Amino acid sequence: MTDTVAPSAVRTLQQYIGGSWTPSTATEAIDDRDPATGDLLARVPLGTAADVDAAVASARKAQAGWRRTAPQIRARALYRLRDVLDQHREELAQLVTQDMGKTLDDALAEVGRGIESVEAAMGAPHMLKGQNLEGIGTGVDVETFRQPVGVVAAITPFNFPAMIPMWFLPFALATGNGFVLKPSEQVPLTSERYVELIEGIEEIPKGLVNIVHGAHDVVNAILDHPGIDAVSFVGSASTARYVATRATENGKRVQALGGAKNAFIVLPDADPATVSSGVCGSAFGAAGQRCMAGSVLVLAGTPEQQDAALERIVAAAAELTSGPGNDPTTDVCPVISSDARTRLVGDIEAAEQDGLKIVLDGRKADAGQGGANLGPTIIDGVPQDHRVATEELFGPILAVVRVADLDEALQFTNASRYGNSTILFTESGGAAREFRYSAESGMLGVNVGVAAPIAWMPFGGWKDSIDADLHANGDDGFRFYTRNKVVTTRWASKSAAPTAGGMRF
Ligand code: NAD
Repeated sequence: MTDTVAPSAVRTLQQYIGGSWTPSTATEAIDDRDPATGDLLARVPLGTAADVDAAVASARKAQAGWRRTAPQIRARALYRLRDVLDQHREELAQLVTQDMGKTLDDALAEVGRGIESVEAAMGAPHMLKGQNLEGIGTGVDVETFRQPVGVVAAITPFNFPAMIPMWFLPFALATGNGFVLKPSEQVPLTSERYVELIEGIEEIPKGLVNIVHGAHDVVNAILDHPGIDAVSFVGSASTARYVATRATENGKRVQALGGAKNAFIVLPDADPATVSSGVCGSAFGAAGQRCMAGSVLVLAGTPEQQDAALERIVAAAAELTSGPGNDPTTDVCPVISSDARTRLVGDIEAAEQDGLKIVLDGRKADAGQGGANLGPTIIDGVPQDHRVATEELFGPILAVVRVADLDEALQFTNASRYGNSTILFTESGGAAREFRYSAESGMLGVNVGVAAPIAWMPFGGWKDSIDADLHANGDDGFRFYTRNKVVTTRWASKSAAPTAGGMRF
């Protein structure tokens, strides 16, 4: 609900700019609700270009000193951040569950992933080392340096409130940049808590990290601001394309990670228990709201083999319990809002009207106090070009596509506009090797349900799942936030190492 910023029993969030909490210049705010209960948690100001301007000025000012801070001292500040986050694991996970809805176990795993990104960024002194080549001419050497790009912004989605801001913040800081975060307006509370915890770390200068709450206007102000040098974005494919286009037009470096339609390919020789647990955990965990969630089950083999595999998966999915994320017996949490549930129910109805078979119907699950629960849903007999097999629905809905073999499976999955992740279940090394070579996705899994790389590896898809050259995390994280500088030097005096036949300068 959008409304004017008026006095209310529930607090309106503040921006964090220049090292202090300050009211937004916004005239409007929206509700942040607990998906499980529908309770109003906070009002989120729809921040303005003036808020962004102030945040950029603050980041720029603090960055001037931060870039001159030794890399190992910057890394040490991240060791402190790592320890503080570790001490607050449980509390952060509870906040994620309350704000986003996922189960506590899942939230704890997410917080753990965020902490791992901090740990990976702590390797900055190693990762920032340049290259050199001695004696390229008489008395001439050449060397490279990686320097920060300046002020960077991150715009993040609702589905990983703890992990995704940490894909960017630690790498940006480790490499010597100032930082502006625009968290999802649907789940702003974990980011707010992060900044409160950062406030207590004296090694991180005041004003270096800023948070601007809001929605489209804040995003547009970031994309247009001449003081922002690079933008990291994660969200749906259409927003990613928009962000990448506008940021690029404005001369910014950009990495925009978009949506997904991830498939599981199941070959007849796959281990049945591995398939059932992998598929159910991935398709229905976090109510299917992970960018790595599989949402198309591609069954290869004879109709009998396909039926047997599907039967096992439907039986396992039917055992899953839908409920609030803070109930330890819950397997499938609510989706982000009752509106999202309504949209997903519409998708199931449309599939039904097209004659597809709903073999497990999540609409029968109790919608819960917040009206946002939807049980696991499996739709069989889906043509390869049907919307439920090709488009991201972002809920606990699994489309079943039947194919003859691995070749046909790969033809189908490679035809997708997306390329985030594809999973193969098989016990055949040869099939797995062919899959690894041929599948057109950025992140592959073999016999694992969710093939999310650890933070020391790059995270990102192909095709419409990304508009970027460099992925998040891993080596790419360091590269995205730094510029290469190449210096060629000649010292005429005492050039003791003559080079024969080198370059002439
Ligand atoms: P979203 O695109 O709606 O929102 C993401 C961010 O963009 C938010 O901060 C939002 O305020 C902003 N935004 C949304 N629409 C905008 C517009 N028209 N103009 C300017 N700003 C806009 O995404 P979401 O619903 O929050 O997140 C779910 C999506 O994110 C899914 O598509 C999922 O696949 C994707 N995702 C991708 C990855 C990945 O690694 N590729 C990871 C997580 C989530």
